[in-house]
Amino acid sequence: MHPIPAQTLLAIWEQGWSQPPVWRALLLLTAVLPDYATEELAALPVGRRDRHLLVLRQQLFGPALPGVATCPACGEALEFSFQVADVLVDETETAVTELTSRGYTLQLRPPNSQDLLAAAQLSDPDEAEQQLLARCIVEATRQGKAVNVKRLPATVRQAVEVRLAEIDPQANVTINLNCPACRHEWPLLFDILNYLWQEIDAWAWRTLYEVHQLAAAYGWREADSLALSPWRRRQYLEMAYG
Ligand SMILES: [Zn+2]
Repeated sequence: MHPIPAQTLLAIWEQGWSQPPVWRALLLLTAVLPDYATEELAALPVGRRDRHLLVLRQQLFGPALPGVATCPACGEALEFSFQVADVLVDETETAVTELTSRGYTLQLRPPNSQDLLAAAQLSDPDEAEQQLLARCIVEATRQGKAVNVKRLPATVRQAVEVRLAEIDPQANVTINLNCPACRHEWPLLFDILNYLWQEIDAWAWRTLYEVHQLAAAYGWREADSLALSPWRRRQYLEMAYG
């Protein structure tokens, strides 16, 4: 995985600003995996994408993942911290899998970024959900005859959702939290993309402010300030502003 220079990360942040999350992930992956075409990266199962994002997160901001949550039982605010290694699932082969449910035989594959992008085009969440499932059902038959996936019974669709989550566990990571106040335990869904983008957002604003301060103090251009290591930038800021 290639390191991302500050200049590039800022450009990705700017490009991704008005884009849906799926697209932000693709911008990040394209920067760190330049040997792959964007279409290839978009065809990776979401779990594979998230694995890359976790490795990138560790490279950019370190292995500790702190967070805050509210206990659903008593409302107590809770701070927690876990490690990137805690949420990395063993890499499994996420190939096409067969599911039989209520007389239907279905061939399924895990969703990828192309599927998420297609679903994101639809404003109705139910339709988006349907579309996503339909794309991940490679083949559907009943008594040997092809079936329209849009006509599958609700129970079969639920079984599909459960199986899709099982075959790509890295895309559905939960961490177990327990409340020190009331001892309630619950699983929290950990969305690395959302988590990482928030950090990049905070980093970008901090960095722009540093560039602004350096420009005001020394008249340096943005590219010159960004070319400095964060440590050197801080030293110059210290000298100018104390
Ligand atoms: Zn509680």
